[in-house]
Amino acid sequence: MQGMQRITTRLLQPVEWQGAARCAEAEPEIFFPERGGSSKAARAVCSKCQVRAECLEYALNNKEQFGIWGGTSERERRRLRRERVRRLRSVS
Ligand code: SF4
Repeated sequence: MQGMQRITTRLLQPVEWQGAARCAEAEPEIFFPERGGSSKAARAVCSKCQVRAECLEYALNNKEQFGIWGGTSERERRRLRRERVRRLRSVS
């Protein structure tokens, strides 16, 4: 159910790159696997998506906490955000 809420959020906040999102042609549920479930199907779709970089950037900037975005899981995005913060702190 939480996944469906996130999908609704996506639809209510369209951004330009989403018009080319490959996931629009896939089952939305695969992008919100249950805890411990496989994200392989979603990642396969993302791997062929031409707006993957934009999607990942959007998810990082908006702190998307649920689902597969830009081919990354929640845990991977948290790690990416931490790495960015660390890098920023090291140059300032
Ligand atoms: S990278 Fe994945 S989640 Fe993002 S728009 Fe493309 S298919 Fe959808």
